Amino acid sequence: MINVTKSFLPPIEEYQEYLAKIWDSSHLTNQGPLVKELEGQLKKHLGVENLLFVSNGTIALQLAIKALDLKGEIITTPFSYVATTTSILWENCTPVFADIDPQSFCINPSDIENHITPNTSAILATHVYGYSCDVIKIEEIAKKHNLKVIYDGAHAFGVNVYEKSIFNYGDISTISFHATKLYHTVEGGAIIVKNAELAQKLYLYRSFGHIADNYYTLGINGKNSEFHAAMGLCNLPKVENIMENRKQTVLLYKKLLDSSKLFFPQKHPNQELNYAYFPVVFENENVLLKVKGALANQDINTRRYFYPSLNNLPYLTKKSNCPVSDDLSLRVLCLPLFYDINHVDVERICKIINITI
Ligand SMILES: *Cc1c(COP(=O)(O)O)cnc(C)c1O
Repeated sequence: MINVTKSFLPPIEEYQEYLAKIWDSSHLTNQGPLVKELEGQLKKHLGVENLLFVSNGTIALQLAIKALDLKGEIITTPFSYVATTTSILWENCTPVFADIDPQSFCINPSDIENHITPNTSAILATHVYGYSCDVIKIEEIAKKHNLKVIYDGAHAFGVNVYEKSIFNYGDISTISFHATKLYHTVEGGAIIVKNAELAQKLYLYRSFGHIADNYYTLGINGKNSEFHAAMGLCNLPKVENIMENRKQTVLLYKKLLDSSKLFFPQKHPNQELNYAYFPVVFENENVLLKVKGALANQDINTRRYFYPSLNNLPYLTKKSNCPVSDDLSLRVLCLPLFYDINHVDVERICKIINITI
């Protein structure tokens, strides 16, 4: 069976070395030495100032909304993983969907402005598949209307835009280090925040709002453990190599697939891709279902990332109209992509697709 993704695992001996350190220190969680080391290495690797390692990418989003004290309406993208929308709802705010750009699949800045009301407090946008949002236009809109900006960067690890980390844009960026992501810590995530005072607030929120016997504020448990940090420390030196392998696979896919009948998202001209996903858009949903079925018959698993378009979630009280996202979410499929996928398998996948479309 070929899955749509497969988690990278470092040589077990490397992980065992960290385990020995954990056994020595008996420090298992609560900002232990490995968590601090990982935070330091991630800041350096990404070129960002304030970074908090947290238990997952969803709590990162929720903490971001909480720390910015957002109320009312948050303009967001319908084309993302469900956690982008549920975080807004969980924090008692209202998601308002702006449609996406048909090239980048990210939120369309010109549609953001159509949805701004006196109740709008922020924009929460996703760099979907690691394709950058139009960060410059979004910044202009946010300044003009006095809105906060959060980027869900769950897919964007290692991406630079205009030669600096994508995580340096917006008030806060979040990442997911879930096992299915390009760079992972089994479970985990991070919050990157420009403002140092806000970072202080987030440090408190992450661990119940108190330091020793001083109770400063309401908080939650968003901490992560030494065991998760250890996986992150093992994987970080490998991530450039992982990205390069994935790039070669994507280039092979693009060479072999009959692109006259397919469409791919287009990246922003001032970014490099991290090859976190390989999304392919078919002519219509019927063709997609035929391809998905033909691959499944050969034990090849694909995923409908992202379907349904989030504006259609059944538990939303208000339906909104996002024709571009509605359409693309019916037609897009992510093909298997992971660091050691066999190129013979890629050839097989392309053959099946080419005869089915
Ligand atoms: C994976 C993902 C999340 C959630 O991250 P977890 O670490 O699984 O909680 C949020 N947003 C997007 C876009 C994701 O893909």
